[in-house]
Amino acid sequence: MLILDCPCCGVSGEETEFHAGGEAHLKRFGPGSSDAEFHDYLFTKENPKGVHLERWRHANGCGKWFLAARDTMTLEVYGTYSAQTTEPPQDIKDKISAKRPGWSWREFS
Ligand SMILES: [Zn+2]
Repeated sequence: MLILDCPCCGVSGEETEFHAGGEAHLKRFGPGSSDAEFHDYLFTKENPKGVHLERWRHANGCGKWFLAARDTMTLEVYGTYSAQTTEPPQDIKDKISAKRPGWSWREFS
C-alpha cells in the first residue's frame, strides 16, 4: 500500500485518497517548438523501475497538487514537496542517493 503525506495540508493517507498526475518536472513545449520537441513532450515519459518523481493531487482532501519522490518497486516514499519547485529539495535528493547510489534524474541528481 502506498502512503503519501500531503505537503499542503499535512494529511497522511493511502493512495486512494489521492489522484496520480503523471511524471513531475516536465519541460513544456508549445507554439514555436519543433515537432520532435512537442512529440517528446506529449509521448515520451519516464517509466523507471526504481526512483520516480511524480505529480499527485489530494483529490479527497485539500484538492491541491504536489510532487512525490518514490520507488516504483518498493513503494517507498522518499518525500513529498511543493509543486512550485523545479527539482526535489536537497534533503529528499540526499535520501534517495543514500538508498540508490548513482541515481540521477535528467539534469539534476
Ligand atoms: Zn492536502
